[in-house]
Amino acid sequence: MTKKPNILFIMSDDHASHAISSYGSRINKTLEIDRLANEGAQFNNCFCTNSICTPSRATILTGKYGHQNGVRTLLDELDGRQQTVPKLLQKNGYQTAMIGKWHLGHGGHSDPTGFDYWNILPDQGDYINPRMIEMGESKVVDGYVTNIITDLSIEWLKKQSNHKPWFLMCHHKAPHRPWIPDEKHKHMYEDVTIPEPETFNDDYQTRAKAVEEAAMSIEEDLNKNDLKMDPPKGLTDSELKSWKYQRYIKDYLKCVASIDDNVGRILNYLDEENLTDDTIVIYTSDQGFFLGDHGWYDKRFIYEESLRMPLLIRYPKEIKAGSIVNDIGLNLDFASTFLDYAGVDIPADIQGESLRPLLRDAVPDNWRRSMYYRYWEHLSYEHRVGAHYGVRTHKYKLVYYYGEPLDANGAEPEERNPEWELFDLEKDQYELNNVYSDPAYENIVNEMKHELDKLQREYSDNNV
Ligand code: CA
Repeated sequence: MTKKPNILFIMSDDHASHAISSYGSRINKTLEIDRLANEGAQFNNCFCTNSICTPSRATILTGKYGHQNGVRTLLDELDGRQQTVPKLLQKNGYQTAMIGKWHLGHGGHSDPTGFDYWNILPDQGDYINPRMIEMGESKVVDGYVTNIITDLSIEWLKKQSNHKPWFLMCHHKAPHRPWIPDEKHKHMYEDVTIPEPETFNDDYQTRAKAVEEAAMSIEEDLNKNDLKMDPPKGLTDSELKSWKYQRYIKDYLKCVASIDDNVGRILNYLDEENLTDDTIVIYTSDQGFFLGDHGWYDKRFIYEESLRMPLLIRYPKEIKAGSIVNDIGLNLDFASTFLDYAGVDIPADIQGESLRPLLRDAVPDNWRRSMYYRYWEHLSYEHRVGAHYGVRTHKYKLVYYYGEPLDANGAEPEERNPEWELFDLEKDQYELNNVYSDPAYENIVNEMKHELDKLQREYSDNNV
């Protein structure tokens, strides 16, 4: 019998695909991460089903939407007694580990389950000398968090037997806010100006009021902790906004540079140990991020920059080097994909599909042509993004801001008038022109509403 493949799942936090050079970044280079694209496959249309940390992580572990696994918002914790992908792999002969950012609660039923070894950052975790919880025991680890998570991952790999396959979730904290770089990259980008995105000065004309209400603007909402220094005196408003963007994006990109180095370290380890051919390596992030796009940082919205996840998969035995996949993949699909590669039956209650056929040029005829998204945390916390759900196809995106908290944890008990948006993605890649009320799109609106209803029924989301 052939040995099952090892699975190395590397996930960073808030790393948008437009800050990866294989995805055409205009603002940085990620030569190590690019190796996975060059030697494997790049998904150009992988999306998250809810663009925030905790729900995306729960969806990855369970293969289910938040309304099914109980994690819809940042305030929900994962109940680890339910079925998860590490448990299924462990039962089927895998050695399993979870190292780094967990962010699904800890203590009681929310500690990681299904892992032979776990060592996690509590909550968001710290960049420098972070406290970590190793199998329930809390300790401070000296150093920079991205290096530490990689060191611990390599240490764990060194201890694994060659006779059993392994599954390692290596979850980086970076490049999450507050974007603290390590010493090595502290002076990177000192003498350069990072280009501002096309939509940096978006005025939100034609968009829903919910868009204006969001509090995640570079201009107004970055705080002292984010900026880490006072601006020079005498700047105009527009100069100050540009200065803040440079402060923010440079720290973000320095954190990404450390991720890139550390991805290189772990790939080199696989090479040195002759593990490369037998190991599926995945690089992704829990969602996308606004890198000054629409004048914002953060995520939450269904808009492209936040919705799209980077997804690179290398498996030399099965995936042709340099493959590009344009079909729609979701974080919902990761669990099924791992199980498929591991030769484990996919339980019927898992909602995602295996991405493996897409990587063998055997795209099923009925592969999804639309995806369902839902953000529950109505006007929550500091960023004030209204709850919404929507559907995206290859050509269009329909969004519905339903204007109420319903029963979601952390949602604010404030009501807003419901609003719709429709974007023609072929004509309007930056989603600047809401055509929902344009009579020319009446049929499209109807078709998209029909699709939305269909997906909500299929995924059993009845809270609509
Ligand atoms: Ca995140």
